[in-house]
Amino acid sequence: MKALSVIYDVTALCPWDCPVCCMGASHEETCRKDELTAEQQLGIVPQLAELRENGYDVKIDLSGGEIFTDKAKHLPLIHSLSETLGKDKVGISCSGFGIDAELAGFLSTYVHDVEMTMDVVPYRPYPLRPVGYSVAAAKAVSLLKNAGCEVGLQTVVSSYNSSFADAFSVFAWCCANHVDNWSLLRFFPSGRGAQFPEAWMNDKTCEQYVHMVQELVRNCPSEYKPEVDFHYSMPGHIKYSETCRCVCHSIGILPNGDVVACFWALDSSTGIVDPKFLLGNVKQNSLLEILNSPKAHYWSDCHHGCELAA
Ligand code: SF4
Ligand code: SF4
Repeated sequence: MKALSVIYDVTALCPWDCPVCCMGASHEETCRKDELTAEQQLGIVPQLAELRENGYDVKIDLSGGEIFTDKAKHLPLIHSLSETLGKDKVGISCSGFGIDAELAGFLSTYVHDVEMTMDVVPYRPYPLRPVGYSVAAAKAVSLLKNAGCEVGLQTVVSSYNSSFADAFSVFAWCCANHVDNWSLLRFFPSGRGAQFPEAWMNDKTCEQYVHMVQELVRNCPSEYKPEVDFHYSMPGHIKYSETCRCVCHSIGILPNGDVVACFWALDSSTGIVDPKFLLGNVKQNSLLEILNSPKAHYWSDCHHGCELAA
């Protein structure tokens, strides 16, 4: 079986309007104008099952926008994916918005894990996120843990939160709240984030940051520590790789059903930055047909470096 990670941004609607949103999400309802209907969204489920029947070990992560801005539409989708692919193959990436005890119980039944973002600890001002963003994640962590969910927190590391104090305080928060997994991702200036080029850390700074975090994790005396996971884009870590993952490891699906080779290849209006990243649309073709198309083979047939940075 060939592992394939599918990131499906189900909606562009999101209450947070983060200054650095990588996909141009917005609190304006008008951003949903091209979104797949509930029926079309459910139509992706048999397409994923077909991929599995054809040798793909598929894992899907539902993201946004904020998926829980429309529970009536998206809970049946989660249920259907879980029943078809298995709970272990379904994950959720969200902000914590809209999670109450009832939803936490639902998620513990139907998804493998829920990941939220915490760039800095709650109540610490941070120029790249709105006020209250980390607080929403913190409240949801408690509800999800009580419901028995596996919970991850992701820190998007930029030049604004790469100090020892910021890294240590988020790690300590994860320890104190029994977060299962802390993942570190290097800020990438895509979408609205392109307006913050100074937030991007160069390779040397990133390497120093990785070593600093490895040391702080090693030396922290906490009895409980989360699993710590560094993204492959972080120099200084053994996983670091300059090999592009497009199609070979992952694809993205946008709210309108467009299938993209890289979910960072977006501008501030959720437009695709270069036609080579657009592989097709689930309304016209199945995911299997799209992965067998020449546009997908451009990515899967030979080695690529990052063509966004080029
Ligand atoms: S980064 Fe995430 S939480 Fe922030 S506006 Fe975009 S989709 Fe919403
Ligand atoms: S284009 Fe760049 S950012 Fe996108 S998957 Fe490839 S290496 Fe990663």
